[in-house]
Amino acid sequence: MSQNKTEAGTGRKENIIAEARRDREFREKTYRERALKLFPHVCGKCGREFTGRKLKELTVHHRDHNHDNNPPDGSNWELLCIYCHDNEHSRYLDAEWYGVETPGGEKQAPSAHKPFEGLETLLKVKKLPLT
Ligand SMILES: [Zn+2]
Ligand SMILES: [Zn+2]
Repeated sequence: MSQNKTEAGTGRKENIIAEARRDREFREKTYRERALKLFPHVCGKCGREFTGRKLKELTVHHRDHNHDNNPPDGSNWELLCIYCHDNEHSRYLDAEWYGVETPGGEKQAPSAHKPFEGLETLLKVKKLPLT
């Protein structure tokens, strides 16, 4: 009896995407955990409470929409559920929701926003081919 071992070489692309996502999630996790310690686990908009497994639906929103502004007292954070958070950002198409960092505090006019700019920046940072 021989065991049939197959090593699949698939999922490489998924791995790269997963890695980039993990990277971002890790960054978000650090202040998310702090925010969850500071605030009650309630959505600041709809007032729903999140416990146990549901807790991952609660996300940290930056009041000034600046991802890099993370004061330890949590004054720039607001806990929002994923639905309210999405709703909040569909009104302000800004960098925070897409994880784009603007170097040097450079301000971009909203009209100059391109939908794929965030992806391009992400790929450049991770030095990935654009194909
Ligand atoms: Zn909500
Ligand atoms: Zn937000």
